[in-house]
Amino acid sequence: MSDAKIIDGKAFAAKLREDITSEVTKLKADHGVTPGLAVILVGEDPASQVYVRNKGKQTLECGMNSYEHKLSPDTPQADLLALIAKLNADPNVHGILCQLPVPDHIDEQAILAAIDPAKDVDGFHVVNAGALATGGEGFAPCTPYGCLMLLKDTLGDLSGKRAVVVGRSNIVGKPMAQLLLKESCTVTIAHSRTRDLPDEVRRADIVIAAVGRPNMIKGDWIAPGATVIDVGINRVEGDAGKMKLVGDVEFETASKVAGAITPVPGGVGPMTIACLLNNTLISACRANGVAVPKLGFDS
Ligand code: NDP
Repeated sequence: MSDAKIIDGKAFAAKLREDITSEVTKLKADHGVTPGLAVILVGEDPASQVYVRNKGKQTLECGMNSYEHKLSPDTPQADLLALIAKLNADPNVHGILCQLPVPDHIDEQAILAAIDPAKDVDGFHVVNAGALATGGEGFAPCTPYGCLMLLKDTLGDLSGKRAVVVGRSNIVGKPMAQLLLKESCTVTIAHSRTRDLPDEVRRADIVIAAVGRPNMIKGDWIAPGATVIDVGINRVEGDAGKMKLVGDVEFETASKVAGAITPVPGGVGPMTIACLLNNTLISACRANGVAVPKLGFDS
């Protein structure tokens, strides 16, 4: 069996960021608008600090304004809500996100609900989840939207394809399934109670793995020629006790059977921030009555 095509998410995301940068330059020159992204971090979770730093850096590199709000871990929920209300009202801020998870004393749903849906560039507000489900205009969550870009770049038209999404979280699995349904795929959503997961995966032309379990999906579960998108990011011990990242799919065996597959790292991971910047650009265009460029898709 020949080896799968490796889907290079790192290169795709770099090209998307270049296109975003060009559009930002045009928006500034033609309309005097600089897109702005506000990121709120409550507490000192090390992984969240890295994500927020990367988001801020890439926002600036695309020519946008970055507003970082780092709050102490014991910030009262009322203070956080007051900050969100201020950002909602600020015309220079087009995107707002609160880095998750938030500390236990804060109600995550209350925070997500407080963000103006028109600035909810993470796409987590129920209004945006509803828009995705019903075909309205909103924001799709960044990670699944990035997966869709990679899929369409690899396969073109997805209509009629059988897709299985393993995982049903609000931030990856469910919106991914909605996006695939919108593309006229026949979608199965699998989860921890799914009875015969290998059998479900074996019937799919497209496999999306969003579970959070290292190497769970084996090569012999994959239909020959299927396209595999591995969202999982798992830190495991590698050679000589050094930590390394692996996906939810056993890459070594799956890449012998699949037609195309994303690696971990370098597959889906880099797409998330690129799509966040894309959503921020879209928001800035909408807020100023400017036509929204459709980046990341050929047509
Ligand atoms: P969640 O923990 O919220 O959801 C995991 C899902 O996997 C649940 O729906 C769960 O089912 C399902 N699941 C767990 N065990 C099994 C099993 N044995 N068989 C089948 N399904 C199972 O995770 P997220 O959706 O937030 O993230 C998934 C993965 O994607 C993680 O590795 C995360 O790090 C990664 N990720 C990567 C991103 C990126 O690339 N930028 C962004 C976001 C996430 P049930 O609902 O029944 O419990």
